Amino acid sequence: MTSSHAFWLAGRQVTGEDTFDVTSPWDGGLVGKVALPTDAQIEEAVAAAYAVREDFAATPAHVRAAALDHVSRRLVERTEEIARLISAENGKPVKWARGEVGRAVSVFRFAAEEARRFNGGEAQRLDTDAGGQGRLALTRRFPKGVVLGIAPFNFPLNLCAHKIAPAIAAGAPIILKPAPATPLSGLVIGELLAETDLPAGSWSILPVPNDRMPALVQDERLPVISFTGSEKVGYAIMDSVPRKHCTLELGGNGAAVVLGDYASDADLDWAATRIATFSNYQGGQSCISVQRVIADASVYDRLLPRIVSAVQAQVTGDPADDATDVGPLVSEDAAKRVEAWVREAVEAGAQLLTGGKRDGASYAPTVLTDVPADTTISCEEVFGPVLTVRKADGEGDAFAAVNDSKYGLQAGVFTHDLQAAFRAHRALEVGGVVIGDVPSYRADQMPYGGVKQSGVGREGVKFAMDDYTYERVLVLTGL
Ligand code: NAD
Repeated sequence: MTSSHAFWLAGRQVTGEDTFDVTSPWDGGLVGKVALPTDAQIEEAVAAAYAVREDFAATPAHVRAAALDHVSRRLVERTEEIARLISAENGKPVKWARGEVGRAVSVFRFAAEEARRFNGGEAQRLDTDAGGQGRLALTRRFPKGVVLGIAPFNFPLNLCAHKIAPAIAAGAPIILKPAPATPLSGLVIGELLAETDLPAGSWSILPVPNDRMPALVQDERLPVISFTGSEKVGYAIMDSVPRKHCTLELGGNGAAVVLGDYASDADLDWAATRIATFSNYQGGQSCISVQRVIADASVYDRLLPRIVSAVQAQVTGDPADDATDVGPLVSEDAAKRVEAWVREAVEAGAQLLTGGKRDGASYAPTVLTDVPADTTISCEEVFGPVLTVRKADGEGDAFAAVNDSKYGLQAGVFTHDLQAAFRAHRALEVGGVVIGDVPSYRADQMPYGGVKQSGVGREGVKFAMDDYTYERVLVLTGL
């Protein structure tokens, strides 16, 4: 699957003077060569987006919605080919890659629907005060300006979709920058957008190298930054532009709580299967993968062996094979980091129940118990196929354990108790609580994002549109 890929500058396909290689994390083979934009080309894209911003905001909703619907339909038609591309550049098992394409199909469809109804309009009477007598306020939402969208490697298509689709729906031009390890899937979106009538300049997809990003981040013509990626890079960006609007979708160390009422064989089988699947889903490289299991002491001894055998049942291997559940990590360095963190935990006294082996970029699905609280794996985001399991002494202890983290993205709580569900919703310091399932559940229209070090702001199509726009009030006098 070797080919040369151009990038997208103001809606047209452009080759740069230099290229960089995209290689397979599975076998190191060349997946594609991608053109690098020059400084002059980056400037051209920014200038075009800035110049078109007022026209784009005024583009009729039906035009923007039709373009978004078109991309959604074309993604359906090209699902298999794009899934194979995601799998090749990212190492994600192809069956999960098909799911990612399906999610991007929905993101573009949701964005088309929101484009048709998005308005933000509200009429507010002002005559509740004597000074407002004879006046009326009307509000509408307008784009804040050009969006700079920065995407990570782990969902190379869908997280690009989450930047670009809401921007188009809101009438905000966007410069999208995909991750350097996985730019090809994001560039495919350009092929589909190029088939539409969106104004030139309203979108560019530029694989800008990291060392040239600070200039783009600082550019005053790009007042909105929507970043998904690591805590380190995200906060460095926000700190460097304190006067810009930044949305940060960062990391997590997702917890799944199993409460004492979740105790039948069927309950524990379901919980164990979901936990095993979503701690290893794309090698644990999801910001909401299950990293921590916190099980009530009354169910712990029956749950743990089920989790271990479900983890051992995960099929590892070639991501292109339909049977594979767990492929390689994004790079050998990533696998070596996971290996070092597990070694550190074991040396500190953790019990290794299964896994703990590395082969190149692949790391075996791993379960640890008795992990000391001060180890790296207890405190940081592992971003690999490693699960830690601990006992809790009742609901309060379990919820406190979830909150004992610098992160707060999502949490899962396995319970049938409706009141416990509401207590979890109130107690857990996270952006989302999932009852009856793992923290890894995400529907692309729902508000999504974190608290604490997991980020600032929310995505989910409508919520990203809120983020890209602001309310401007119109006061009518003499009524
Ligand atoms: P990363 O922070 O290394 O890179 C993210 C993006 O930032 C890439 O496009 C990268 O090229 C770019 N970048 C790097 N240096 C930059 C700079 N100086 N200025 C501007 N941009 C720069 O993250 P990653 O390894 O690609 O992704 C993994 C991380 O993303 C994990 O922490 C994961 O939890 C997080 N993530 C969060 C969510 C969420 O929605 N909360 C979703 C997926 C991934």
